[in-house]
Amino acid sequence: MSETPATKFSDNDVLIVVDVQNDFCPGGALAVPRGDEVVPLVNRLAARFRNVVLTQDWHPRGHLSFASSHPGKRPFETIAASYGPQVLWPDHCVQETPGAAFHRALHIPHAGLVLRKGLNRAIDSYSAFYENDRTTPTGLVGLLRERGLTRLFLAGLAFDFCVRYSAEDARREGFDVFVVEDACRGIDMDGSVAATQASLAGLGVPCIAARDFS
Ligand SMILES: [Zn+2]
Repeated sequence: MSETPATKFSDNDVLIVVDVQNDFCPGGALAVPRGDEVVPLVNRLAARFRNVVLTQDWHPRGHLSFASSHPGKRPFETIAASYGPQVLWPDHCVQETPGAAFHRALHIPHAGLVLRKGLNRAIDSYSAFYENDRTTPTGLVGLLRERGLTRLFLAGLAFDFCVRYSAEDARREGFDVFVVEDACRGIDMDGSVAATQASLAGLGVPCIAARDFS
């Protein structure tokens, strides 16, 4: 955890709450260990922001990222997709299933946008900004710029995948970016949490703590 920025949030700040969905919480299809613990922290944090965006992983059945779509493959193996390596996951966050719904205790009525991602059957999308081919935009950069939102705070699931990729893309797009690390939980495959911390530090994305704001 590094220095906390000025803790008074302004109208130019936005909280991006990444994928706080049932399938990523204990009991879900792709449970992030202790993923549900972020919910009260995220609720309290969101109440301090005027601008909040929620992302929602939202896959069609038969999505390319599902191991079940590749005969003989198992979850957590990697395949060579047309756009590069792709980790295979258990079926998760299938459109309109209970697993794709937000955690029932997530309470952010003033969230102005729910950005669904991963809708393209042939491309996964960890990041809120670009699909995994790294070229197909979701449109979120344009929305944030048009609304004058320049400082981004990220929280949610999973720290080492969707939060990481979202934070990295946002930084590359020139936003000031902070990851509220104690309001995230990671999957931690093969040291991916440590790799995320190193990568974010290298890009100038501080990992901060929600408790510093309360
Ligand atoms: Zn997914």
